[in-house]
Amino acid sequence: MKDMNTPELRTEQRHDDARFDTRAIHAGQAFDPTTGAVIPPIYQTSTFVQDGIGGLRGGYEYSRSSNPTRTALETQLAALEGGIRGLSFASGLAAEDALLRTVLAPGDHVVIGNDVYGGTHRLVRRIFGGWSIRHATVDTSDLAAVRDAIELGTTKVLWVETPSNPLMKISDVAALAELGDEAGVLVVVDNTFASPALQQPLAFGAAVVVHSTTKYLGGHSDVVGGGLVFAAGQEELAERVTFTQFAAGAISGPFDAFLTSRGIKTLGIRMQRHSQNALAIARRLDEHAAVERVYYPGLESHSGHELAGRQMSGYGGMLSIALAGGAPAARRFAESTSLFQLAESLGGVESLVNYPSDMTHASVKGTEAEVPDSIVRLSVGIEDVDDLLDDIDRTLARL
Ligand SMILES: *Cc1c(COP(=O)(O)O)cnc(C)c1O
Repeated sequence: MKDMNTPELRTEQRHDDARFDTRAIHAGQAFDPTTGAVIPPIYQTSTFVQDGIGGLRGGYEYSRSSNPTRTALETQLAALEGGIRGLSFASGLAAEDALLRTVLAPGDHVVIGNDVYGGTHRLVRRIFGGWSIRHATVDTSDLAAVRDAIELGTTKVLWVETPSNPLMKISDVAALAELGDEAGVLVVVDNTFASPALQQPLAFGAAVVVHSTTKYLGGHSDVVGGGLVFAAGQEELAERVTFTQFAAGAISGPFDAFLTSRGIKTLGIRMQRHSQNALAIARRLDEHAAVERVYYPGLESHSGHELAGRQMSGYGGMLSIALAGGAPAARRFAESTSLFQLAESLGGVESLVNYPSDMTHASVKGTEAEVPDSIVRLSVGIEDVDDLLDDIDRTLARL
C-alpha cells in the first residue's frame, strides 16, 4: 500500500484539474478500498500495528504524527486553497500558534491588522509578547501605513485578515504580498471570513492561509478546528510547521476532522446562499434611520466594494452595523432578535448576532484594536431570507 502521506498521493487525490465544488466533495475523500464505503471511515484510533519494527502500513504510526481521517481533511484543505500542503489543528488559534512559533524568535517583530479577530491580537500581544516578540497594529487596507510599520530585517510576519473583523475592511492581498516579498516578510492571510469558496489568497501571492475551520468550513457550529495551507515555494516552511504540530501536538482528532470534511462538501453552495441573504439584509438595514452605517463589502457605498469585486467571487455572510443610538441601542438590538441568536462565533447555517465590544472583542478593549461600542455584528445564516428580514424589521421597530 502506498504511503498516504507522500506528496504524490496527496496530489493524486486532490483532483486539481477539477473545479472548486468538485474538489470540495472529492479531494482526499476517495472511497474505502476494503469495503467500497463511499465515505472514508473515521479512523478512531490512537495507534497503528506495525509489520515488524518500523513496518508501517501506509506510513501511519501514531495519531499525533498522522491519522488517515486527518490526512483526508488536510488534502481537502490544500486542494481548496490551491496550496502544496494543508495541516489540521485542534482550533484556529492552535494553528496560528504553531505557525508563529515556527517562524518567530525573540527580538522579531510582527505587523498585524488593526481589526483582526480579537483572539489573534491577544495571542500576539499576550503570549508572544511575553517571549520578546514585538508587534505593530496597522490598517492593512492602507498600503503606505503597512510599509511604514515594517521594520526591515526585524519584521518577519505580516498578518492580514480580509474582510476584517468586525468592520469588514478589504485589504489588497496581491499588493500586500508584493510588499512582503520586497521586505522579506512572510505574508499570512486569515481567510476565515471569506472561505476559499469566495477568495483564494495564495493565488494572489500570500505565503500561508490560516483558517478557523470552526466557522464556514465546518459550517454547522458543531466542531472547533483550525487549518493552515502553504503556497508553492513554501515547502521548507511547511515541513517545519508539520514538525511543530507533531512535536507540540495541537492536532485535530479523527471525529472532529471527519465533521469538518463533511461540512466542507457543501461549502460552495452554502457561501452562495450566505452571500445572497447577507446582501438582502445589508440593503434593508441600510435604509433604516436607526442604523447609522452598514459595513458590508457587497454594498456599493462600502470603501472596499470594488477591490472585493476583484479579489472575491462573492461578498460573504458577515456584516456589521453601527447603531445611531450608540451603545444602548446596539445592546438592545443584540438582545432583541429572535432568529438571530446571541452567541459568539460565526459561519454556521444558523444566523447569529454578536456584540463585539463585550463578546468576541472584549479581549482587545483598551488596545489599538478596540471595537466601537455602537457596533453589532451579524453572521447571516442560510435560513429563508424573508424570515430573517422579518426578524430584522421587528427588532428595528422595537429600538
Ligand atoms: C474564530 C476565529 C479565529 C480563531 O479560531 P478558533 O477556532 O476559535 O480558535 C481566528 N480568526 C478568525 C477570523 C476567527 O473568526
